[in-house]
Order: sequence, then C-alpha cells, then structure tokens
Amino acid sequence: MELACLDLEGVLIPEIWIAFAEKTGIEELRATTRDIPDYDVLMRQRLRLLDEHGYGLPQIQEVIGELDPLPGAREFLDWLRERFQVVILSDTFYEFAMPLMKKLGYPALLCHKLEVAENGQITNYLLRQRDPKRQSVRAFQLLNYRVIAAGDSYNDTTMLGQAEAGILFHAPQNVIDEFPQFPAVHTFEELRQEFLKASAVHSET
Ligand SMILES: [Mg+2]
Repeated sequence: MELACLDLEGVLIPEIWIAFAEKTGIEELRATTRDIPDYDVLMRQRLRLLDEHGYGLPQIQEVIGELDPLPGAREFLDWLRERFQVVILSDTFYEFAMPLMKKLGYPALLCHKLEVAENGQITNYLLRQRDPKRQSVRAFQLLNYRVIAAGDSYNDTTMLGQAEAGILFHAPQNVIDEFPQFPAVHTFEELRQEFLKASAVHSET
C-alpha cells in the first residue's frame, strides 16, 4: 500500500506569512526562520505584531481567504488523490490553513494548532510534536504504508529522508545542492512523473 505525503506551503499554496505580510503591508511579518532561527522567538514576534496591528483570528482568516492555491495545485492534488491516499504534512496551523484547504477540496491535513481567546486574539500556539513530518511518515510506515513524499524546504528534508522515496519540488538551489540524494523538479507535470517513477504500483507515464 502506498501513501503520498505532501508539504503544503510552497508546494500547493503560497507561504502564508509572506502572503499575509504582502496583503497587510506589515513588513516585519516577512521574517522567517532564516532571519530568526529560533522558531519560538519568531512565533512570539509574529503574534506580538498581529496584536499590535489589531489582527485577531477572524481578520487573519479573512485575509488568508483572499489567497489562492498555486496555479495548477488543485488539479495536481486531484490527480494524485485518484492514485494514492494523500496526507498533507505541514508546519502551519489549522486555523490559518482552513480557508485555503477549502479551495483544495479539504484533503487530510496534519499540522499545528493555535490557542485563540473568545475575542479572536491569538494567545498561544501548540506544536503537535517535534519533527512532526518525519514522525508522521514513521507512523504510516508502521501501518505498512510505503511513503512517497514531496516538499520544498529544509523543514521537509527529514520527511523526505524517512520516506521510501523523497522528491524536492520548487526547492531553492541551496537546498537542492545540499540534498543531491533527492530528485528535484519544478513543475507539477514533472512532479506527476516523479510520483509515478517512485511508485511500486503505478507504472503509467
Ligand atoms: Mg514548504
């Protein structure tokens, strides 16, 4: 039995924090773990900025609701779901992803969760577990699934390594250079071909 695991941001949808920063003009929200390596410090800063600018969860969801999946993402996902059971493994939060998951037809999503006060203020965030993408792949393997995984960045590489087959998609050149063991592709058509190549079940081309 085969399972396909996909990263979300950068693969099927835009980077949520960057898109949100662009929509709202809050420049400091563009910071990522490349600028602030400590994720906890980064998230505290993000939540503080949202507070300062008066963004509670409803306002954030409204902005995110205006975003669209990447061109071709929905068609790719539908194609993949016809051939594999698909689970999306993401480091985002359910509350942020949901407006976009609607546009993707609500595929299965494993990610993190926010704590939200009654007035909509985001008060905290809850990470599901450490190294969640790799741990999810491990768990699926214990259920006797053979896993093919695709992602675009550093936070995907342990998942790609744990899977029986890992594919880099839309990855920046430094990630491609650092992880030459994974095939790297840039279009959904190429990604379809990589999934078929990696599959032990589907041989169609
Ligand atoms: Mg990503």
